[in-house]
Amino acid sequence: MIEGHCLCGAVTIAVAEHGGFTGVCHCRMCQRWSGALFACFPANADAVTVTGKVARFASTDFAERAFCPKCGSHLWMRNTDRDDAPYGLMPGLFDAARDIPLKSEIYTDRALPGLALAGDHRRATRAEYEAKNLHLEGDG
Ligand SMILES: [Zn+2]
Ligand SMILES: [Zn+2]
Repeated sequence: MIEGHCLCGAVTIAVAEHGGFTGVCHCRMCQRWSGALFACFPANADAVTVTGKVARFASTDFAERAFCPKCGSHLWMRNTDRDDAPYGLMPGLFDAARDIPLKSEIYTDRALPGLALAGDHRRATRAEYEAKNLHLEGDG
């Protein structure tokens, strides 16, 4: 069990079990939403308990991005095509995320200067990722 909270503390998230890795995305939507690069780690819906008021933005017709309506901290991204879709939780909310290793980095050809990450994790360019995954056409 790990626990985290937003910057103001109005939203807390308890995670009974998670995927054990972090993924990073440099797509234009994630850059706009996060301000630079986006990182999250997966957790099954039944392992996540959220308390406090949460705001949601439907960033595409298949996914939402959630944030604290008081302080604006980003909380998760999640597909909305099914009720039990896993969460992609923001590592920075959790002190324990220091122990979760980086496993993948996507849209690497779109990373802002200096923000392409070092290490031996898996990488994919925009073309490589979009050939195999659901995405939004023409994300600008
Ligand atoms: Zn907050
Ligand atoms: Zn992205």
